[in-house]
Amino acid sequence: MSTSVLVINCGSSSIKYALVSDRRENRIYGLAENLGTAEARIKGITVGGEPLELSIPHADHEKALETLLARLANYKPQAIGHRVVHGGTLTKAELLTPEIIERIVAATPLAPLHNPAHLVGIDATMRLFPELPQVAVFDTAFHQTMPEHAYRYALPKFFYTEHYVRRYGFHGTSHAYVSDRASELAGQFRQGGWLSAHLGNGSSTCAIWNGESIDTSMGLTPLEGIVMGTRSGDVDPSIHSFIANNLGWDIDKIDKMLNKESGLLGLSDNLSNDMRTLIEASENGNEDARLAIEVFSYRLAKSLAGLSCGLPKIDGLIFTGGIGENSAYIREKTMIYLPHFGFKLDKDQNNTLQRGTEGRIDVGQGPQIWVIPTDEEGRIAKETEQVVQQAKKLDVVIG
Ligand code: ADP
Repeated sequence: MSTSVLVINCGSSSIKYALVSDRRENRIYGLAENLGTAEARIKGITVGGEPLELSIPHADHEKALETLLARLANYKPQAIGHRVVHGGTLTKAELLTPEIIERIVAATPLAPLHNPAHLVGIDATMRLFPELPQVAVFDTAFHQTMPEHAYRYALPKFFYTEHYVRRYGFHGTSHAYVSDRASELAGQFRQGGWLSAHLGNGSSTCAIWNGESIDTSMGLTPLEGIVMGTRSGDVDPSIHSFIANNLGWDIDKIDKMLNKESGLLGLSDNLSNDMRTLIEASENGNEDARLAIEVFSYRLAKSLAGLSCGLPKIDGLIFTGGIGENSAYIREKTMIYLPHFGFKLDKDQNNTLQRGTEGRIDVGQGPQIWVIPTDEEGRIAKETEQVVQQAKKLDVVIG
């Protein structure tokens, strides 16, 4: 029998949704945006594959979800899976119970922009669909297998013991999906050592051993790590005092600069946070764009080389995310900066892979190199189904 899960990702004024059925071609997806304003609308793809655009003036999250579910009519889901950015120390997807909701609330100081929006969505779906089992799938959960030497910061101990300051990591759903998929295609499902590079607007790297995350580039927040669209990634932590003392900026202004005005956007002198625009500008001789691409690729390679310390051996490397899946140019640049591990890129094969195509791009010697289009919604749906099945077996009261 075909089952379907409604996957929801709630932001402060938007809801990304996807109805994932085990028949993948039937996926319905879209975005409700500008919620709470006169411009609120739903844009997406219908069950027939047609574009959908629906104005829902002043609709809030609950109204938007109600409209969505009414439109799905005959395709009513069997469960709802919520993407939740921060699960604190929760190690796996969980059925939404009052206790788990409390844990999401408790993790709010660690994800002040994301978790409150997820909670609005959870509250709305709980009220609208009390009969449906609902599951939270956390971006942080996959990284809870990191050993302590990978997740602790070299700070006074009480920050960790009393304030939970540690490295958590994000993009866990994507790293889990692509590493499972690549190792499966390689004929060694969840075996061996893999490096994964998720390169989108937010970007992170991960080292995976026998199917478990053992280190990752993001930390307490998604700001740590490699260069991103508008996030700086790693900088000297003294930058806050340097800027405060010399420019008189306060913490909020510095935080905003590091999260929203840095990365590719900052390096390119505000030209763009979009890699396509930068590649084009660089080809036309723009020096800032050229440097932004160079810093991005070098810092990515450096991060992957650093993460390799956690792996007893390297079986393969995976590129994913909008940049990783589409840009043969960035993949090639990154591999040039990774000369020491025996990777051998097949340039022709590399150039053929983009727009949602998965495949192997090494010459067949040394560690493998894969391009795997990520499928976070599919993974969330799968984990949701597994949690619901498990709960049924244990006879937990759901709905
Ligand atoms: P998000 O993190 O918002 O989900 P995506 O994974 O969609 O983002 O990735 C967006 C990034 O992918 C942008 O920087 C975009 O320029 C880049 N991208 C998409 N297609 C290409 C391409 N053909 N070449 C280079 N970069 C690309």
